[in-house]
Amino acid sequence: MIYVSDLMNYLKCPRLCYFRSKFSSKLNEANAVKEIYLSLRKGYDLEWARSRFLELGGDEETFNVAKSKFKFSQDLKELKPIDWEVKLESERYRLRGILDELVDFKGLKPLVLSLRGGKDVRFREKIKIASFCLLLRDRGVEVNEGFVYYCYDGSLRRVGVGGKERYYTLKLVEKVERVKKGFLPEKGKVNCNLCEYKEACESKGSTFFERFGKKFKL
Ligand code: SF4
Repeated sequence: MIYVSDLMNYLKCPRLCYFRSKFSSKLNEANAVKEIYLSLRKGYDLEWARSRFLELGGDEETFNVAKSKFKFSQDLKELKPIDWEVKLESERYRLRGILDELVDFKGLKPLVLSLRGGKDVRFREKIKIASFCLLLRDRGVEVNEGFVYYCYDGSLRRVGVGGKERYYTLKLVEKVERVKKGFLPEKGKVNCNLCEYKEACESKGSTFFERFGKKFKL
């Protein structure tokens, strides 16, 4: 089965998805931000969040950087938590993931909430919300929207999804399955300088598509 996080990796850079499916990666700022958010929403303090992150395998420095950037917005009071870290899995959609938070907004049906640390990447976030909507749908819960909380500027954005996004999500599942079977995908259009797999990636060279795709308009 494919994780929602695999889909996010693929959208960031298909090769990143390839390497992360082969090697484990270090806990990063995004993981620390999630621990801070969840601890505060559950009524605990930052020291609790630190303990959670360190026990998970993270380091103090990463936690302190995340803590210095994190913002807790008063807008979150509008969203009543229903549950946190909800494990969802669907044989039908060949997908699984852990939803950060399930919330109630003004008495409406449950909505999904996804967290972001860094910059606003709308398309990726839309696909993430669509993935969780699919997973909930398989449990008989029809949801077509959610929220993204940007932990570094404290903004909350409502995101609607439809058939187009759900269809694209399923196509992505197929692409990631191919990568997990060993297919080396093309490089993403990203800045590779900070990538932990830069050396391994360069040693793999370019794919056939990258070398000839443009020339022959494949
Ligand atoms: S080095 Fe660049 S192309 Fe390779 S996996 Fe990392 S981000 Fe992707």
